[in-house]
Amino acid sequence: MSARILVVEDDLLNRMFYHEVLESRGYDVTLVADGALVLDEVKRISPDLITMDIQLPHISGLRLIRKLRENEATRSIPVIAITAFAGRGEQEKAMAAGANGYLSKPVTVDRLSNSIRQALETNGHAIG
Ligand code: MN
Repeated sequence: MSARILVVEDDLLNRMFYHEVLESRGYDVTLVADGALVLDEVKRISPDLITMDIQLPHISGLRLIRKLRENEATRSIPVIAITAFAGRGEQEKAMAAGANGYLSKPVTVDRLSNSIRQALETNGHAIG
């Protein structure tokens, strides 16, 4: 069974890019544009991994990661934080919030698929 990935991203073109890349790699992809819907969507689909845009309207991705970590049911879901700003400070903030991985934009096909594969392997998912 292919891993289920929840993509949180407010930008339409980025969403389409992640969708295409991840589906072509055989993942089962669900897209969410609105940060306010993330926690409900996580509960609904129980993703194996989440890619989390940090810059979202209304609620920051960092805040969402903290909320996921506070909840027993979602605590162990791997999260890859994606930010528009490169820099050690951004990465440290994401990791401190509880992210398992970090990518700065522009995200390339290779960096995206490598970090997802790595995070899934670390969490014991068979890749295929
Ligand atoms: Mn954004």
